[in-house]
Amino acid sequence: MIKWLARAVETTDPNALEQAFRWLFGFVRPQRRAIAQVLGLSLLASMLVLMQPWLTKTLIDDGLIAKDYGTLVQVAIAMIGVGIFGTALSGINRYLHTKLSARILFSLRDDVYGHLQKLSPTFFAQRRIGDILSRLDGDVAQIQRFAVDSLFSAVSSIIGLIGAIVLMVTLSWQLSLIVALLIPLEILWLRWMRRKVEVRTRRLRERSADLSSFLVETLPAMKFIQSVGQEKKEANRLSGLNEHYLSDLLKLQVTEFFTQAVPGTLTSLSRAGAFLIGGYWVIEGQWQLGALIAFSTYLGMAVGPVQSLLGLYVAIQRMTVSLGRVMELRREPVLVTNTQTQADFPSSGGALHLDSVTFAHGSGQRSVTVLNSATVDIEAGSKVALTGPSGAGKSTLIDLLQRHYDPDTGSISLDGVDIKTCPVSELRRRIAVVSQEIVLFRGSVADNIRYAAPNATDEQVKVAVIQAQLWDMIEQMPQGLDTPLGERGQQLSGGQRQRIAIARALLQQPTVLVLDEATSAVDEETEREIIGAVDTLFADRTRILISHRASTLRDVDQRFELSEGQLRSVTLEAQ
Ligand code: ADP
Repeated sequence: MIKWLARAVETTDPNALEQAFRWLFGFVRPQRRAIAQVLGLSLLASMLVLMQPWLTKTLIDDGLIAKDYGTLVQVAIAMIGVGIFGTALSGINRYLHTKLSARILFSLRDDVYGHLQKLSPTFFAQRRIGDILSRLDGDVAQIQRFAVDSLFSAVSSIIGLIGAIVLMVTLSWQLSLIVALLIPLEILWLRWMRRKVEVRTRRLRERSADLSSFLVETLPAMKFIQSVGQEKKEANRLSGLNEHYLSDLLKLQVTEFFTQAVPGTLTSLSRAGAFLIGGYWVIEGQWQLGALIAFSTYLGMAVGPVQSLLGLYVAIQRMTVSLGRVMELRREPVLVTNTQTQADFPSSGGALHLDSVTFAHGSGQRSVTVLNSATVDIEAGSKVALTGPSGAGKSTLIDLLQRHYDPDTGSISLDGVDIKTCPVSELRRRIAVVSQEIVLFRGSVADNIRYAAPNATDEQVKVAVIQAQLWDMIEQMPQGLDTPLGERGQQLSGGQRQRIAIARALLQQPTVLVLDEATSAVDEETEREIIGAVDTLFADRTRILISHRASTLRDVDQRFELSEGQLRSVTLEAQ
């Protein structure tokens, strides 16, 4: 079935598509029971619908024309029963269908999101967030719509179609034959239109990603846009993007319209033809009126499913585009993996050893070498300064310690254990980093401080707040620690945000604490107090300070300078 679907879509890479369908099927399979339930109910509903014209035929031919009151009453009662039962059934079916559909959507999205959580900062630096958003939202929804809605409509269409055809043949096989002649014509037309639909759909999805990217980029930067007076330019950019989207949307609409309109028109023509011939037979007395009415109703009922099967054809093309876009994310390789996890990871003072570590961002001609065969030792419990010009690679070195990347060659060990053999989550718990970019989430101040150590008690949070010199600020807040922070904590000053991040790192109880320009936004006196508290609290653990301020780097035990790929130990007298 999967192979067949992959072949039916005829893309440039059938293997990739087959793999994509297998991935998709993995989410549909666990819902087998729910699917069977909904299918069973759909089958019942389709049969009820098919009963209606037959009842009408009986009413006309055996009741009205035969002037039989008994049949008239019986058919009327049957019609009421079928109507009520059908309505109840469609209500239940809709409920189950929505539940099933949402489950599949959420599990698809969870899977892709889970994969994104394993990817390196390089991936996120290279991708537009708006584009990822549009894949995770629009494209995943498109796939789910196909996986559930379209397939169900296909199944009920096929049931409806088969039922209608069987009943039509029973009523008149000659007329049925005329209708059947159209099928090959319709299939030829669809094959011709397929590629066009796919191309147009891909363009539209790309335009939608452009729009999301625009919003994700400009909304958080509104203050800056206002202060440099570029509102009009951005508004024009949005209009331009809207125009592009609309133009591609309309092109897709026209293509889809012709894809479906031609077969639709052919079907209508055949219906008129059937009426003409069947009507002639009735006038000539060769056929009953009720039978003609029932036949034309069944023909109408067959047209519906044929239309939705044609719609399904278009839906497959749309879905394939979305599936391709989502699979691109899903196939993105995870660079840092827990390959050789060692259960025993002794907890001690945070001694770091870099052994001939070489690392470059990117590959080929555009690669940027950050570390070239760096070998250093950082003693457990020491206070270390890391300096170097901006862009030298200091933050990258810290990223290597936390395994956001792995060295190209060489190795890093923490307390004598190669960090590649430690569970990544445990390694990152032991190395806390407060960087320039402070991440705050919507939630209370306490929630934000507890983010890396969710089990910390209120008392522990309070202590961390005091150590990070945050207490005065918290006391002035309307609800203290429970005061909600808006989106990304925008109402706070840079210094306040930094201190929240420091409190968060303190609470994590790491063995290595890295402050990467973490106190640049507070005044020198507050900085002295914070670093004093850190020194007291982490006297026996490793502290790595990165700063441009000479005062921050006072009283360190070791100092390293990173420049042009070389990491050198600088003698303290030379400071
Ligand atoms: P520092 O912290 O010393 O200012 P960084 O570690 O941030 O330096 O950056 C070192 C170099 O690596 C810079 O040239 C920067 O442009 C580049 N760089 C940083 N991150 C990436 C990345 N994810 N992909 C490619 N290049 C990067």
